[in-house]
Amino acid sequence: MTKAIRIHATGGPEVMVWEDVPTPEPGAGEVLIKHEAVGLNYIDVYFRSGLYKAPSMPLTIGMEGAGTVLALGSGVTSFAVGDRVAYAGPIGGYATERTIAADRVIKLPAAIDFTTGAAMMLQGMTAQYLLRRTHRVQRGETIVIHAAAGGVGLIICQWARHLGATVIGVVSTAAKAELAKANGADHVLIGHDNLPAEVKRITGGAMVPVVYDSVGKDTFNASIDSLAPLGLMVSFGNASGPVPPIDVGLLGAKGSLYLTRPSLATYTAKRGDLETCAGELIDVVSKGIVKIQVKQTFPLKDAAAAHRALEARKTTGSTVLIP
Ligand code: NDP
Repeated sequence: MTKAIRIHATGGPEVMVWEDVPTPEPGAGEVLIKHEAVGLNYIDVYFRSGLYKAPSMPLTIGMEGAGTVLALGSGVTSFAVGDRVAYAGPIGGYATERTIAADRVIKLPAAIDFTTGAAMMLQGMTAQYLLRRTHRVQRGETIVIHAAAGGVGLIICQWARHLGATVIGVVSTAAKAELAKANGADHVLIGHDNLPAEVKRITGGAMVPVVYDSVGKDTFNASIDSLAPLGLMVSFGNASGPVPPIDVGLLGAKGSLYLTRPSLATYTAKRGDLETCAGELIDVVSKGIVKIQVKQTFPLKDAAAAHRALEARKTTGSTVLIP
């Protein structure tokens, strides 16, 4: 037997139960991983609450982990027992051991510890595709990132600064503003109410070519109003709730804007894309360009407490669950 946090129905943090589950056997093309660390991500809240549809019940939630390979299924030649590995997706992470398709797994260099590995894969690969593919940030550009002191946010602040961008972050408290600044944000606003006016002031009226908005419902309009003509609205999360349906005509009226709702799963669906994305992340982390900020750890069995902290906006940076 092994241990996992499972849900039998969607709901609040209390639906997560720490229970015995049979140790899974790796099928063809799979590896069995012993987790040393498990990543906490906002998407775990969406699956737990029912905002995202559970593929089956009971469900072991969690999309990210790092550990060692314990066993190989048939046909797996790219990994050996004992390899240090990490991954982001598919679901099933809140467990002491799990099986996973080998083509979703990345080798973790010796210089990156398991806690960092579990913290960085999902949030860091998200930062990679947002900054390098959804919109390829150029030196001299000014960008807006919401939830700048969060997991994805602190990585984006550091990486975008390294790329030569001016970063405008949005956070909810003065302490979070200090943290975002210490991680590379040039300007940090507390609250989004004055975002368009502040963007106008900072950019001398030019506005920004891209806004990265993971807050969703509460910030959508302020984000749209901060874009330059032909700008790109990247709506990549729903921390405040999903964005209601919009009138496409709005994009024309606001300056021939572009709108995308990207997901890491699409950007890393092909093995080659996953390797490029993870490879660039490992490179910036290994060189110290991006320092993964693990600000909270919880025992895996206390995942409910971690969810409560995340949803109450009490966390900063990344959070890791320890099996
Ligand atoms: P964070 O650490 O950023 O935590 C969420 C933050 O959102 C909070 O700390 C808070 O920061 C802010 N927030 C604003 N409004 C609310 C609200 N009403 N309730 C709760 N939080 C709120 O989480 P992650 O780094 O794990 O994820 C960031 C976002 O990116 C999430 O929305 C997630 O779904 C999305 N995401 C999307 C991916 C994709 O591929 N599309 C992949 C990975 C993440 P503050 O207090 O400063 O406002």
